[in-house]
Amino acid sequence: DSVGVAIVGLGGYSLNQMMPRFGQSKCHVAGLVSGNAQKARRVAAAYGVPQDAVYGYDNFADIASDERIEAVYIALPTGLHAEYAVRAFAAGKHVLTEKPMALSPAECQRMIDAARRADRKLMVAYRCHFEPYNLRAMELMREGAVGPIRNIRTTQTYAAGRTTPAENWRFNRALAGGGPLEDYGLYGLQSALYLSGEMPESVAAFTDQPANDPRFEQIFATTGTQLRFPSGAMAQLITSYDAANANQALVRGQAGELIMDPATNYSGQVMTLNRNGNTERLNPGDPTVQFVGQLDHFAEAVRQGTKIKTPGEMGLRDMRLIEAIYTAAREGRTLPLAQDGTIKSN
Ligand code: NAD
Repeated sequence: DSVGVAIVGLGGYSLNQMMPRFGQSKCHVAGLVSGNAQKARRVAAAYGVPQDAVYGYDNFADIASDERIEAVYIALPTGLHAEYAVRAFAAGKHVLTEKPMALSPAECQRMIDAARRADRKLMVAYRCHFEPYNLRAMELMREGAVGPIRNIRTTQTYAAGRTTPAENWRFNRALAGGGPLEDYGLYGLQSALYLSGEMPESVAAFTDQPANDPRFEQIFATTGTQLRFPSGAMAQLITSYDAANANQALVRGQAGELIMDPATNYSGQVMTLNRNGNTERLNPGDPTVQFVGQLDHFAEAVRQGTKIKTPGEMGLRDMRLIEAIYTAAREGRTLPLAQDGTIKSN
């Protein structure tokens, strides 16, 4: 039977992308947690959620005794993920949290420890691991479709409109960390790892924070990263809130190249394989199944105890790499990395 999930945070992504997909999945919307009682009442009516299953942030702990709610889906600003995950585990619930998992390795570790103590599941909503184009790309790279991989280039950018840290949490350091890397560039970082099939052995990076731009008072506008993998393959990752739209991943091997453009959108993925003088346009399936796919995967883990493909440990690994990227940029030097993403102390 379907897993009852309380939605924590009724923002753009949960309302427009995730909640409409619950009805086709092995999860159902069993409760809401919101700071806006009026909005929550309206959303509850639309999803058939009883009014006594609507909670505020102040009485969130009361979900502990609500048996209709078995799990929570956290779609709050990133800086609040750790706090609400820990509170959900304390209430005995499973947790599916949006990406990025949190804002530091320490926060990720707190979430993992709380899940273990509560003996509950923790999954990061890395939807690309359930998206046909990205799954096929991983498989092709494993099969050597472009030969040994030599370089990977990813670009995740958009030009943000006028805003300030007070108006928009994505521009506020306490809620968004360094900015575009955690939010959008994370897709490029993840792609570099799952397409190469390797963890980087060293990292170098640059950040840009233009002066006198209210958008970038607290966060970086752009982060550029270089990774070197043990095989000798290299990756260049660019992410920005200050450049025209792009969402691309390119893998070039000794025998060909794979181009994903757009690479990790909600829909409309295009993937091209160039090799042996041929251009092949691949169509492995409907990208929109990624939303239901991740909900079903979570439900199976909750019901049957199956292993989660995108566990807290993966979120922690990525946050270690992000910390290493910022450290490399700040110190202006190349840093050696251990297999788990931590900076090696020589
Ligand atoms: P949003 O701004 O649209 O929604 C955030 C919600 O949190 C709002 O309802 C807001 O009222 C609420 N909130 C509670 N406390 C808040 C506070 N202190 N400050 C600001 N807002 C507060 O953001 P979003 O785009 O829905 O993003 C939410 C999460 O989902 C983020 O972690 C983001 O990275 C993630 N996300 C993931 C994807 C994906 O493709 N997987 C896409 C978009 C967003």
